Amino acid sequence: MDITPFYLAGQPAHGRDEVVVRHPYDGAVVGRTTFATPEQVDEALNKAVLAPAPAHVRATALDHVSQRLRERADEVARLITAENGKPLKWARAEAARAVSVFRWAAEESRRFAGEMQRLDTDPAGEGRMALVRRVPRGAVLGISPFNFPLNLVAHKVAPAIAVGAPIVLKPAPATPLSALLLGELLAETDLPEGAFSVLPLPNDRTAELVRDPRLPVVSFTGSGPVGGLIQDSVPRKHVTLELGGNAAVVICADWSSDEDVAHAASRVAVFSNYQAGQSCIAVQRVYVHADVHDRFVASLVERVRELRTGDPADEATDVGPLISEDAAKRVEAWVDEAVAAGAEVLAGGKRDGCSYAPTILTNVPPGAKVLVEEVFGPVLAVQRVSGDEEAFAAVNDSAYGLQAGVFTHSLRTAFAAHQTLQVGGVIIGDVPSYRADQMPYGGVKGSGVGREGLRSAMEDYTEPRVMVLTGL
Ligand code: NAD
Repeated sequence: MDITPFYLAGQPAHGRDEVVVRHPYDGAVVGRTTFATPEQVDEALNKAVLAPAPAHVRATALDHVSQRLRERADEVARLITAENGKPLKWARAEAARAVSVFRWAAEESRRFAGEMQRLDTDPAGEGRMALVRRVPRGAVLGISPFNFPLNLVAHKVAPAIAVGAPIVLKPAPATPLSALLLGELLAETDLPEGAFSVLPLPNDRTAELVRDPRLPVVSFTGSGPVGGLIQDSVPRKHVTLELGGNAAVVICADWSSDEDVAHAASRVAVFSNYQAGQSCIAVQRVYVHADVHDRFVASLVERVRELRTGDPADEATDVGPLISEDAAKRVEAWVDEAVAAGAEVLAGGKRDGCSYAPTILTNVPPGAKVLVEEVFGPVLAVQRVSGDEEAFAAVNDSAYGLQAGVFTHSLRTAFAAHQTLQVGGVIIGDVPSYRADQMPYGGVKGSGVGREGLRSAMEDYTEPRVMVLTGL
């Protein structure tokens, strides 16, 4: 099996220490790459200097990557499944999203410039105008997690190229191959030397990279504890943190027809278990109004039991393995702990190697880890509530705040939810797992700092530089 190169200032390269990538489902070796050496990292950082190509070169490069991802979509999806273990249907969805992210970035890069501002709103500003240009803050360090090994890399790389900021991307140790494939596609373009590097590195050396002054911007997606370490280690850098969550759904009393209840149950069943729950916006908690609770739960249990578990390479599989057996054992321990404290299991509750069965718990006692922590596994807690106020308070009773879903037909309730819920996004009429790649995306409280999403990330990677014109 060939050793996949990484990309050092746009060029393929090999380091010294080998990294073996294994399929989470069966442990088969799916690829090999190498860690970049300290000398190679130094070279990449020295070359990551601001020498932005013109917008048309960057837009053409972004369009090229989008097009090539589309052409190679089947191969890309199979690679995602092989290194991450997510079912092929979800890997295909991820590959399709990355196509859009690069297309959006190309479009945004053609119009992203800044703005003119009037200054004659006060007498002192008569005869003056301000030109507010957005200029890159400097080279970006992107650090990505394992759970979307392509699309979350795209969310760091595409906006950087769109604004002309050099980016050094450090992929997750378990899933570097999708990021390296993206590096291969970027290397086919006319981007200048130093525009991008994709460097596999062990975690201790990534922590050093975070502190390097040649990378003034850090864009991190991953777990809260690591995000906290990063923030503490570089308090003066511009840091964006996209962290974990324990996303909640509210089913209101007006979401009550048989069709409504069946639809909500089906959406919750799918999105508490997609990618085996390893998504920061997988549904983890559901607060259901007492009037619809029993019908909702009956329908939910039926839907969850219909989910097909097994080999992620099978097109029909809905729920595959977790990223590792250790991850599955942690989920098992948390469920067992909740059950010992009085929670009831309505479905699942069993581990098989690195797979955990889609699980529904109810009557979960307050404080149980499956309610208050991020499970990052296929486990759902369903709780009965007596009204919207109680439900919203329960959603907010969390250290996290990424997105929430509210099933209601009422515009008044929708606005109340939007006003009250402490999250980065409220999805009305659907699960919190909905994300469109162009919309601002991120969390409050323990879920992070700042926003991603094409335009938001482009603003994040740049700062306004004002020029005042006088004598107009
Ligand atoms: P993780 O925190 O273990 O790793 C994330 C990245 O950080 C990896 O590339 C890892 O190598 C690197 N890293 C580890 N230690 C480091 C250190 N000391 N300094 C610098 N970098 C270091 O997370 P994970 O297990 O890969 O991903 C799962 C987590 O990511 C979950 O908590 C999930 O909710 C979160 N996530 C958040 C979002 C979001 O947009 N908010 C999206 C996806 C995943």
